[in-house]
Amino acid sequence: MKDSGLSVCLVDKQRFPRDKVCGDAIGGRAGSILRSIDPSYADAWERFPGKNNTRGWQITSPGGKTARVLFAKPGHVSKRIDFDNFLLGLVRDSGTIQIRENITVKDLEPSDSGTGLVYNGGTMQTRVLIAADGAHSIAARKLAGYVPDPAHFSGAVRAYYEKIDGIEDPAIIEIHLMDKFLPGYFWIFPLSSSQANVGFGMLSSDIQKRKLDLKKVFQEILCSGIMEKRFAQAVRISPLEGFGLPLGGRKMKISGSGFILTGDAASLVDPLNGEGIGNAMWSGKLAAEAAMKAFTETDFSAEMFRNYDLQIQQRLLPELRKKLFLQRLFNRPWLIDLLVGAGERSPVFRSWLGKKL
Ligand SMILES: Cc1cc2nc3c(=O)[nH]c(=O)nc-3n(C[C@H](O)[C@H](O)[C@H](O)COP(=O)(O)OP(=O)(O)OC[C@H]3O[C@@H](n4cnc5c(N)ncnc54)[C@H](O)[C@@H]3O)c2cc1C
Repeated sequence: MKDSGLSVCLVDKQRFPRDKVCGDAIGGRAGSILRSIDPSYADAWERFPGKNNTRGWQITSPGGKTARVLFAKPGHVSKRIDFDNFLLGLVRDSGTIQIRENITVKDLEPSDSGTGLVYNGGTMQTRVLIAADGAHSIAARKLAGYVPDPAHFSGAVRAYYEKIDGIEDPAIIEIHLMDKFLPGYFWIFPLSSSQANVGFGMLSSDIQKRKLDLKKVFQEILCSGIMEKRFAQAVRISPLEGFGLPLGGRKMKISGSGFILTGDAASLVDPLNGEGIGNAMWSGKLAAEAAMKAFTETDFSAEMFRNYDLQIQQRLLPELRKKLFLQRLFNRPWLIDLLVGAGERSPVFRSWLGKKL
């Protein structure tokens, strides 16, 4: 990686290795993004032992039809406690970035000369703030006026399990769509043939409308249908924990004078499949490039950073909007049965479905 020559400080409220509630499915794009930053990063990721290689999804419809769809690029499942620590290790090894852990930003004070980050121990001044503070981002609310909309936000819970029956191929991640809990899906993402990340997620507006408790829904799923048998001997090896997913597909302000929002802070999660890691990494790279340009031109105005918003709008928003459209269609059980059934029968349709997910 080229050293920007800038004084960069990475601040996080936690000390790494730290956990992040997630499904841990890391798409093939992650490797490509690392390669585009520095080929040695992608090589290190290829060598990284803490991951399970994956090559496709298996989707089960409410009516029990099943289609196996291969990914365009092979992916991985890696516990976020390991993956995120691997990424931080790359930053640490670069030796050019100051890392400050255990700093919880409580407030932000924008001014003409940048943004003050107010934390317990004082205030830190930054000329450009790249906010990657996740689904409950202070920067999104305080600097960009973001107000969460339950129709564009999901809730999800997950836990790690061992001894699940019927993981035939750990390279295949499983999605189960169930009549009673649409629009939402239950997942089993294998970490090995004996261990998996298991979870359930649903659109927040539906959770609210139906007054659902996701942890109860999750337990109900484990005790019903085919899952009852598959989880009869399974052992939960972590707490069942929940977190939010800010979904993409709407045009939003994601930068302004002296700041740029990335990843979940910019609501870039795929509204159909809940993937947000790849878009978080890609937007982070674009944000770093925008910040370097701002320093080169000594211009930190909202106008300067607008190009970042435009790149996201042009290169990502159309895809996220398509996924939003599909998400709204996918709450009809008969339609899912029809599509997955067609995928079960036809390899051509399967490959089409693979591109849409
Ligand atoms: C249950 C669940 C399952 C998911 N499954 C998948 C999946 O399988 N695949 C996928 O691609 N995506 C998945 N996602 C989405 C994915 O987790 C996010 O899109 C991704 O983590 C976004 O990365 P980020 O860097 O923007 O935010 P985060 O990963 O949330 O990182 C934010 C960081 O900011 C720090 N922080 C937050 N607030 C402050 C503060 N005030 N001061 C200092 N530091 C702060 C946090 O400690 C954290 O380290 C899932 C999400 C959930 C909730």
